[in-house]
Amino acid sequence: MTDHPKTAILGGGVIGLSVALRLAREGFPVTVITQPLGPTDPPMTSLVAAAYWFPTHKQLELELQRELTLPTFEHFWSLMDNAPGSQNAGSKDAGVSMVDTLELFDDTSLPEQREPAWWMGDEQTRDRIGFHGPVDEKTLPAPTEQLGTFVQGYRYKLPVISMPRYMPWLYEQFVRQGGDVRDEQVRDVAALKDEFDLIVNTTGLGARKLTFDGEPLDRARPETFHTLIGQVMAVRDVWYPTLTFMRYGMGAKKPTYIVPRAATKDVVLGGTYLPLMDDPEQNIDIDDGCWTVPKDQWTADILERAAILHPDFAKTKDYHVLVGKRPYRKPLRLEVDEQFSDDKLTLIHCYGHSTSGVTMSWGSGEKVLAMLNDQ
Ligand SMILES: Cc1cc2nc3c(=O)[nH]c(=O)nc-3n(C[C@H](O)[C@H](O)[C@H](O)COP(=O)(O)OP(=O)(O)OC[C@H]3O[C@@H](n4cnc5c(N)ncnc54)[C@H](O)[C@@H]3O)c2cc1C
Repeated sequence: MTDHPKTAILGGGVIGLSVALRLAREGFPVTVITQPLGPTDPPMTSLVAAAYWFPTHKQLELELQRELTLPTFEHFWSLMDNAPGSQNAGSKDAGVSMVDTLELFDDTSLPEQREPAWWMGDEQTRDRIGFHGPVDEKTLPAPTEQLGTFVQGYRYKLPVISMPRYMPWLYEQFVRQGGDVRDEQVRDVAALKDEFDLIVNTTGLGARKLTFDGEPLDRARPETFHTLIGQVMAVRDVWYPTLTFMRYGMGAKKPTYIVPRAATKDVVLGGTYLPLMDDPEQNIDIDDGCWTVPKDQWTADILERAAILHPDFAKTKDYHVLVGKRPYRKPLRLEVDEQFSDDKLTLIHCYGHSTSGVTMSWGSGEKVLAMLNDQ
């Protein structure tokens, strides 16, 4: 018997499974209730993620960013197959590795370019990523019309998480820990009241409809909660060992990244950050499946940008294209729902992790646990 509350986690993406595993390891009896994917559905967002650990959720207060991202780094570090001194806890199965990284900047006015990001100043992280300041300018890629002129670059190492390997690993760990999984779409949270004492809502974009958050879509204030469409391609016939990306300046409009995934032996090329609101077809339903049909024009554009950084990508023939819907919410929602909760039941919302859900995943579990301990 356990004294822990009977817990339901709504949603089985990277946030849901991370929170579920963290609580299960603490002894909570946990059931993940997650909408089953139909045969024609696209893969869930978490499976499409590139994915590398990199804090970008700027609208969060720094303290919360630290709480969510640094424990996640620690978690991935403990799973690495190739980091010196790591615990190597079954890493090969988890699909996490430390990868040489080149971060590129095309704009001298950026704070990130003048001064390394806050997390690079964290002593332990800095040591582990091996950050040594800017690279020699002469080694930067040549200017092009597509990507502009690179003015600076940093070299260090980052955790890369191969999601097709990591998601099954999370699932398996959870089940081994005694966790239960139910394939079901939740339409009404209140209907679960009699069955559970604690509910954590990690439905990502699904929270729009489930909790009426941001519904109906307010076209005058699209920044509150919307979809950021991300198209990527997984290339199998070209290997390039350096995680390379630009995320600011031109990179914010045309996010350009090359993510080598050792575990799945492929390279993810990206990408797009297309807010649903910006598209001429914006009158369609936000959950409409047509948004996840890849667009040829974007594929060509992604390939062209990747080939500027590594010409072999121009030759690739063996790839598949994926589209994911990032749950963009400003800021993400991580709180006890005081209106819904009562003496018998606590409801915690944990969704809207936008472009960096993988980076904040394990930390989200830690934070939910800390919130419960503080109650
Ligand atoms: C192209 C792309 C690249 C990315 N790259 C990175 C990266 O490099 N690093 C990084 O940190 N992040 C990255 N991200 C972002 C990251 O993927 C997301 O932030 C993260 O996956 C969000 O996870 P989630 O669990 O909240 O949502 P999801 O993965 O969408 O999971 C939500 C789950 O809830 C279920 N659900 C929804 N509604 C209900 C309901 N009513 N009842 C039951 N179940 C429900 C859904 O079916 C789904 O299983 C990327 C995203 C994309 C698209």
